[in-house]
Amino acid sequence: MEIMKNHPLSALTTVKIGGPADTLIITSSTAEFIEALSQSDPKRPPTILGNGSNILISDAGIRGTVIKNISSNIEYLPNNKVKVDSGTQLNILIQDTIAHYLSDLEEFAYIPSTIGGAIYGNIHGFNKSNFNKILLEIDVFDLSEKKVITPIIQASQLNWDYDFSQFQLHPNWVILSATLQLSPGDSKLSKKLVSDIIAHKSQTQSLNSLGSVFKNPPGDSAGRIIDQELELKGFQIGNAQISLLHANFILNLGNATASDYKAVIDTVQERAKSKLNLVLEPEIKFLGDFS
Ligand SMILES: Cc1cc2nc3c(=O)[nH]c(=O)nc-3n(C[C@H](O)[C@H](O)[C@H](O)COP(=O)(O)OP(=O)(O)OC[C@H]3O[C@@H](n4cnc5c(N)ncnc54)[C@H](O)[C@@H]3O)c2cc1C
Repeated sequence: MEIMKNHPLSALTTVKIGGPADTLIITSSTAEFIEALSQSDPKRPPTILGNGSNILISDAGIRGTVIKNISSNIEYLPNNKVKVDSGTQLNILIQDTIAHYLSDLEEFAYIPSTIGGAIYGNIHGFNKSNFNKILLEIDVFDLSEKKVITPIIQASQLNWDYDFSQFQLHPNWVILSATLQLSPGDSKLSKKLVSDIIAHKSQTQSLNSLGSVFKNPPGDSAGRIIDQELELKGFQIGNAQISLLHANFILNLGNATASDYKAVIDTVQERAKSKLNLVLEPEIKFLGDFS
């Protein structure tokens, strides 16, 4: 495994924002990942990083250890099941499963996620299905017990909701790998579906972002509210700007700081509260000190 001290994290996020980690460890197999987790300081649990596509890291960075697992083994099992490491890139898994004539992952095309991040966030796809619909089993390391949880966790035993998984309530649980249940597919049709979704989303969803910053209030869309009710499309502080194409996306126009980005978020929340008496909750997570 690679161990680096005082290492900048901005390049490990899609939005390219964030200060350094005291220690950054990159693991490239599940065995290395387990070793790094087992050796972590019990008083200061490590921060787990996927692709950094849903986290805002503060300008001061993250104290203690950050672990990024890039282990990406994909194993095809009987009855259309696939076992995949948590560090696997979702888009690579989608292409690989389609090449194996398997279907059901297509609607998650374009999401710049790892499998660990997809499970943690229970991501929603193009048709609004959540990732848990294809999850069977999850291998989890428990940081408090310093061991892999046995027997293996069945996805059906956990609570899931739109963009919610129980992992968000268990900071000590680290996802090592998962088994997915897919169905037989037609790879030509699947490829067409994926390329249509990518063509559609890339028109409005810039990759120099963290995806949708706010959760949609029940029955409404945060993007619509920010655009039409708060009229904040294009609003900018420093180099952080509310996208002109998708008002729930905040872009880094170049060298934006986490403080700029957070100030835009705060402004949206203050305006929503004062103008509409509405609490807009962030969908992204904040890592490090923002006080
Ligand atoms: C252009 C763009 C489009 C997007 N579109 C969508 C979309 O359509 N639908 C959607 O739901 N989201 C979308 N997102 C948001 C984002 O991609 C997802 O939330 C994604 O799942 C985050 O995964 P990640 O690997 O980047 O995780 P990170 O952002 O690195 O981490 C997110 C959280 O997961 C935790 N985590 C990561 N790996 C593990 C692990 N192995 N064990 C335990 N915890 C872990 C981290 O600690 C952190 O709390 C989009 C983002 C962008 C930039």
